[in-house]
Amino acid sequence: MKLVFLGPPGAGKGTLATLAKQALNLPHISTGDIFRSNIKEGTPLGLKVKKILDSGGLVPDETTIEIVQDRLRKPDCQGGFILDGFPRTIDQAEALETFAAPQAVINFILADEIIIQRLSGRRVCKNCGASFHLENLPPRREGLCDQCDGELIQRPDDTAQAIQQRLSVYTAQTEPLIGYYRKKGTLKDIDAQPQPEVVLQTLIKVLKA
Ligand code: AMP
Repeated sequence: MKLVFLGPPGAGKGTLATLAKQALNLPHISTGDIFRSNIKEGTPLGLKVKKILDSGGLVPDETTIEIVQDRLRKPDCQGGFILDGFPRTIDQAEALETFAAPQAVINFILADEIIIQRLSGRRVCKNCGASFHLENLPPRREGLCDQCDGELIQRPDDTAQAIQQRLSVYTAQTEPLIGYYRKKGTLKDIDAQPQPEVVLQTLIKVLKA
């Protein structure tokens, strides 16, 4: 199944994709993760996009579309995929139609105040990328990753200023995709507020319906 996870930053798309990938046996393709690992490794792409990610803006469509198209050509994506964080603009959605039209687009719905609470309390492992939350999912030892003992840091784009920027970019550029996919009949709304395991069960039900 070709799946797209759509929704504002902080709605839990990445967490859900990590759970759904096992439940549905599909690869999880996150454009944000691809950019962050390029930044970490200091590749030419990483150098090009670092400032954009740090400020909460969007990487140009042309670059992003090419990366996704290349990734979806890989053998592990031939039976389907979960796209997390792509498309984020109408131009990206139209490009995706030409090489891998999604069968279902999951729209994760969450109120703005909860988004801000989730993003500002998020801490990620510098080493393995595992995600924690100061209140909702605290690590066993303060400041250290449960999985690999790595240092927990705040993502540069989880600062108050970058969060505001990401939310306004979402409203202006990404939210119109809700109408775009609703018209195509592929959009499925999901309440993203409950615990991830509960959201996963709803997701599985919605996909079977
Ligand atoms: P995410 O981890 O999905 O929140 O993405 C982190 C950042 O990566 C975003 O704020 C953008 O700067 C960039 N990014 C991720 N996906 C896209 C996309 N589809 N188009 C443009 N920029 C993206």
